[in-house]
Amino acid sequence: MKQVSIVIPAYNEEGNLEKIFHEIDLVFNNLEDYNFEIVFVNDGSRDNTQAVLEDLASKHAEVKYIEFSRNFGHQFAVKAGLDEAEGQLVISMDADLQHPPRLIPEMIKKWEEGYDLVYTIRKYPKEISFFKKKTSNFFYKILSSLSDVELEKGSSDFRLMDRKVVDNMKTMSESDVFLRGMVKWMGFRQYAIHFEADQRFSGSSKYDLNKMLKFAFTGITSFSVKPLYMAAYLGFFFSGISLLYIPYVIYAFIAKTEISGWASLIMTIVFFGGVQLIILGIIGSYLGKMFKQLKHRPTYIIRSKNF
Ligand code: UDP
Ligand code: MG
Repeated sequence: MKQVSIVIPAYNEEGNLEKIFHEIDLVFNNLEDYNFEIVFVNDGSRDNTQAVLEDLASKHAEVKYIEFSRNFGHQFAVKAGLDEAEGQLVISMDADLQHPPRLIPEMIKKWEEGYDLVYTIRKYPKEISFFKKKTSNFFYKILSSLSDVELEKGSSDFRLMDRKVVDNMKTMSESDVFLRGMVKWMGFRQYAIHFEADQRFSGSSKYDLNKMLKFAFTGITSFSVKPLYMAAYLGFFFSGISLLYIPYVIYAFIAKTEISGWASLIMTIVFFGGVQLIILGIIGSYLGKMFKQLKHRPTYIIRSKNF
């Protein structure tokens, strides 16, 4: 029998845990050669998630849980699950059933065919807001153009990893975790499965706009230094323009044509003041990342676990 660990981050997901356990249990009833365990990671939930998990664990030996000391965020919760899971295969998926367990047999089949990593790309269902779809596609476009890893739009954190992929992942000690990029960066034999995401079963999305923007920003700054070089390109561009403008100003001075300066002066100052602050901010955010990394803090703290 081969052991499959399923890592499920849960932040205020009390209504979904039982359901997802039973769905996964059903799937594995039909998979003869595989045993499963579920590693739930309670990411500092404020509802009854922990109680539900303890109850589930007391009834089913396959249920394991890790409780964080506070909310560390989705990516860290998945990371913790990967660090602790012991299966020969590890699958990470969301708790809200948007990642359908029925895909698991197909993923495992691909692994049997020799792929080390089976990741999934979601097509959004019609019900998902236009705004979320557009912002998400925009993000993947920017990320792909800025960074060295190519991420397909709709990449999700529903994936199957071979033990050797997980072991390599464990050696990556980044303080900002962006799993989609890290996994892509690692290489190995990867296979993509396309699927249509289901509706969230219970509760509401935990990714508000703020978290989404943060996530996007981490994704870009963790995988690219191109924003840092943007200053140089802008510098060349504006120097080029000034080379055209300066002769005109000299000519106007010599020819003593009346030049009214106030409006253009203010505009230039405000504009370049803004550009410079943005560039400083970009440099600052990389500096901040280095600072965070240098502190060598653990990326998450476990309050309790049952294994
Ligand atoms: N999640 C988490 N910590 C957080 C936010 C989310 O562990 O701070 C989990 C959440 O419980 C779910 C998964 O991450 O299992 C994806 O979150 P969600 O479904 O809210 O995101 P969406 O599908 O709306 O992008
Ligand atoms: Mg979801």
